[in-house]
Amino acid sequence: MTRLYAGGCACGEIRYEMRSDPIFENHCQCRDCQRRSGTGHASYLTFRRRADLRTVGETNKWRVAGDSGNEKVHAFCPTCGTPVYLTSVAMPDLIAVHAASLDDPGQFNPQVVTYGICGHAWDRMDSSLRIFERMPPT
Ligand SMILES: [Zn+2]
Ligand SMILES: [Zn+2]
Repeated sequence: MTRLYAGGCACGEIRYEMRSDPIFENHCQCRDCQRRSGTGHASYLTFRRRADLRTVGETNKWRVAGDSGNEKVHAFCPTCGTPVYLTSVAMPDLIAVHAASLDDPGQFNPQVVTYGICGHAWDRMDSSLRIFERMPPT
């Protein structure tokens, strides 16, 4: 049975729904995620098919080259600024939503920490998670 993952931005202008299970759930401690989140990491659920994400509302987008060198496209609410989802230019079919944008953030079930090499002592991760220095090998 596939669960429904629904969420949106802080002001409610952007809404999304995904009816498939995530293929990857992680905390990312790279500098890009730190700067955008304002804290030690960002948390994501990645889904296989971007086309399955139903959205309401118009996001603004900006691009940045991540620590891996891959360009990422960040979608955020133009009104409240909340980051909602992101895509990767190198893997255009995938889409990652921010864990805390879910209506029920308890659906997030991380197994992995990426870019642990950039992690700060004040942002210590659950030791049961698998921590990669950068990205897991594909
Ligand atoms: Zn908003
Ligand atoms: Zn990151």
